[in-house]
Amino acid sequence: MNNKQETPTPAPRRGNPFPAILWGVLIVLFLNAFVFPLFSPGRITTTDYGTFVEQVNAGKVCEVMIKSGQIYFTARTDEGKTATFRTGAVEDPELVDRLLTASSPNDSGKISFTEVVPEENSPILNFILMWILPGLIFFMLWKQASRSIQARMGAGGNFLSFGNSGARIYADSDVKTTFADVAGQDEAKEALTEIVDFLHNPKKYAEIGATLPKGALLVGPPGTGKTLIARAVAGEAKVPFFALSGSEFVQMFVGMGAAKVRDLFKQASEKAPCIIFIDEIDAIGKRRDSTFGGNDEREQTLNQLLTEMDGFDGRKGVVILAATNRPESLDRALLRPGRFDRRIQMELPDLEGRKAILEVHLAKVKHDEVDLSIVAQATAGSSGAELANIVNEAALRAVRQGRRLVTTSDLEESVETVLAGVQKKHSVLTAEEKHIVACHEIGHALVAALQTDSAPVHKITIIPRTSGALGYTMQVDEGEQVLLSRENLFNRIATLTGGRSAEELVFGSITTGASNDIEQATRLARAMVTRFGMSDKYDMMGLETVNNAYLGGDNSLTCSSETAADIDREVLRIVKEAHGKAREILSSHRAILDEAADYLMQRETITGEEFMRIVRKHTAAA
Ligand code: ADP
Ligand code: MG
Ligand code: ZN
Repeated sequence: MNNKQETPTPAPRRGNPFPAILWGVLIVLFLNAFVFPLFSPGRITTTDYGTFVEQVNAGKVCEVMIKSGQIYFTARTDEGKTATFRTGAVEDPELVDRLLTASSPNDSGKISFTEVVPEENSPILNFILMWILPGLIFFMLWKQASRSIQARMGAGGNFLSFGNSGARIYADSDVKTTFADVAGQDEAKEALTEIVDFLHNPKKYAEIGATLPKGALLVGPPGTGKTLIARAVAGEAKVPFFALSGSEFVQMFVGMGAAKVRDLFKQASEKAPCIIFIDEIDAIGKRRDSTFGGNDEREQTLNQLLTEMDGFDGRKGVVILAATNRPESLDRALLRPGRFDRRIQMELPDLEGRKAILEVHLAKVKHDEVDLSIVAQATAGSSGAELANIVNEAALRAVRQGRRLVTTSDLEESVETVLAGVQKKHSVLTAEEKHIVACHEIGHALVAALQTDSAPVHKITIIPRTSGALGYTMQVDEGEQVLLSRENLFNRIATLTGGRSAEELVFGSITTGASNDIEQATRLARAMVTRFGMSDKYDMMGLETVNNAYLGGDNSLTCSSETAADIDREVLRIVKEAHGKAREILSSHRAILDEAADYLMQRETITGEEFMRIVRKHTAAA
């Protein structure tokens, strides 16, 4: 394939050298005005020709020098000091006679006069001072200015570029991470095992004539272990590991990023077999487009990367791994065969995966018998990084409480800490507020428990958290649901509205405590209409697309504004219906609501078991 077409070199852009020139001029002026006179022999006073003749006649002049129309002379002043004067030379044929005949305070009694300016600096020194020094200072300033301009322009422009990237990239040749450190992610490991094998024995593949993919792209949400697994590949293959993050290529000087890429590949091919890992590659690999003017430095770097990837011999044993959580923003050219053609998906861990990750990290701390399944169930949607953090928080809590082993309750508490914030020690809730919060939380729990499809409750607490949550109902999915039915989703919304419904029933008034519930319920209902095709009205029409799926995902509507307004009505209908359902459930089980809320008020934290006991007592009696 013709490389040139795909990787056009952008025309270099000239920076504005004006400030540098201005600086140079200022420097020369400064030197002439203040510095050079210091090298001259004392101050020179300008005077008129008449004074000069007068002084000569008065016998006060010691020396006279004539140079290019100027007369310099030293004269003895009245105080007995010598001073130097200057005056313009007037057409005066008698001057020489006058000087010869005049008397002088000199030892010889005669004026000594020449036509050369004495005591002038040596020509070489003068040359250095007048030209080389300002030139040097000028150059240094230029360099400095161009650097700061580069920094300000964010690596755009092509003001000055020095061919050397300067920084050497160090290879980590003794990576200790192995696949055992990466829990779950079996599919990713399987895909990478082949690469490990290739790095162990490139010849085996070369003999058959097979070329392994030059690059593999690790894709997935943040914290799923992409960086970790890349290191593990190096650790398993026992080869040097060149790790760089995409942003490190984007340098202050234009051309430096490209130079760094060149350096990197040069060093890597010397050390082959080895792994090059470019983390967060979207920093340089973003799609090139003309609409926003583009970024020269980034594009040059990307072009260099593409060229290098094409240029090196895949059979040598250099494997390039890259990671990103924004695969859709990558340049197409990066993804074509022969470059990052293998894509390895790293997903958020499922129930088993979470358990495995917790185990890996728990093995690093001293712990008691711990029931991990509860923790794993309570952390649906958490990434590996969050789970690692939960284990660490638990260990910290154990230390704070002076214990030597981590217990299950440490882990449970730290789940809440990580997901909802730290407990507020001195809560300022009044008794009435506490009652409201208790009813609100029991409202959620009761609606959840009485709808068959909703997850049972694990724990309810009304201890305020730093995240702003006043209470907290921890729901636990027993199995992991991959598919959610329309009823599941609707019941979830009903559960979310349960808190507010309980407030309405018990107090006849409503509070701000439901704001987070409202947000979540609305989002769910909206997704049902726009993305899951779960409204009768719009059937299976897709009304929204999700961008940046791995980074929270922002949605954009793909329908007309009339439809958008109608979607709002549809969402409102669903939320209202769910709210009505929750109210109905609670009002027909008012006795449970009151008893459980009182119980929670006293205890502040109750387990799902305690709660279910109250529920069962009533439902069995009925
Ligand atoms: P990413 O690069 O995908 O954003 P990292 O690889 O930096 O995520 O993961 C951050 C940390 O999370 C790791 O250092 C590790 O402690 C933990 N972690 C993430 N995924 C896993 C996993 N599958 N197994 C064990 N630990 C994991
Ligand atoms: Mg990472
Ligand atoms: Zn709530």
